[in-house]
Amino acid sequence: MAPYTPIVPFDVLSKRLGIPAEDIIKLDANENPYGPSPAVYRALANEKDYHIYPDPDSTALRQALSQYTGIDATHIIAGQGADELIDLIVRLFVSPGDAVINCPPAFGMYRFDTELNGGKIIDVERKADFTLDPEAITEIASSDRNAKILFITSPNNPDGSLLSDVCLRELLELPLIVVLDEAYIEFAGGSRADWVLQHENLVVLRTFSKWAGLAGLRVGYGVFPEWIISHLLKIKQPYNVNAAGSAAALASLSDVHHLQENVRKIVAERERLYPALREFDFLEPYPSEANFILSRVVGRDAAGLKAALAERGILIRYFNTPRLQDHVRISVGKPAQTSVLLDALEVVGSQ
Ligand SMILES: *Cc1c(COP(=O)(O)O)cnc(C)c1O
Repeated sequence: MAPYTPIVPFDVLSKRLGIPAEDIIKLDANENPYGPSPAVYRALANEKDYHIYPDPDSTALRQALSQYTGIDATHIIAGQGADELIDLIVRLFVSPGDAVINCPPAFGMYRFDTELNGGKIIDVERKADFTLDPEAITEIASSDRNAKILFITSPNNPDGSLLSDVCLRELLELPLIVVLDEAYIEFAGGSRADWVLQHENLVVLRTFSKWAGLAGLRVGYGVFPEWIISHLLKIKQPYNVNAAGSAAALASLSDVHHLQENVRKIVAERERLYPALREFDFLEPYPSEANFILSRVVGRDAAGLKAALAERGILIRYFNTPRLQDHVRISVGKPAQTSVLLDALEVVGSQ
């Protein structure tokens, strides 16, 4: 296996660049620039039971999630990030030799967890406009009996495009477990979590990492048909969601109004950033429904652009894959961060 390449820690990077950590503008991992709700810090300080193993059923959290999503708690499992649930779903359905359909450009963990669990990845590339190719997916699902799971993402990471209802309906007809990853849905609206109640082969994944600013505490959840839940409960680590993560997620759900205000600010900033990026003749941004914008880099080297910004303490994401090697992805930051970014692009662009 190729090893996972972790992100360089802030303090290490800060030393390397000679820039104080607090001056680094981190727009490379779609994190929330506003951080957690103040209620999270209070809840973490007040939590009394850190010396006690947490509730293996995450009962209180699942109850609160039921309120938030409008879906009965019997359909919900909490996890150590959505990442843990991706791994659990693959473990449950994929035996060595089985296959998972991936639709790149896509989130890297689908491939990582499939390979980790001895499965085979079948890539069905997204079209030029980043929409899915349902004909090609259908062909594989109906000809390859080892294909068990289809991972799709809406809004998609890295381009921010949405999946249409028509396409999702078509894919749900296939003999596959369809995992719809909605990590960024709060920035777009229109979750399909309630579709799970009508479709025995649909799973919807959500997370606190992006809209609620809890990436460092690792809390996600999935909405599942009940028949899948009963098996997942058998194979999950009992104490997968720790006491701090659970307290923070509960506090977030008690302060949704505040967090939604941050989501609104991020969406407003995205709407400022998109036309501003279009002004640069070396950037062709794609419209996004998430908290990041993918841009094609025209007439210059995308890796070089990322490096030039990094020297100025601005981190953006570059993907070294054939399809995306002339692209960069920029997470939406605070207004002041956007301004610094745009000034830097001006300077770097004229060099
Ligand atoms: C960030 C991200 C996740 C990870 O969620 P965690 O809850 O932090 O594990 C899942 N899916 C996609 C598409 C993401 O971009």
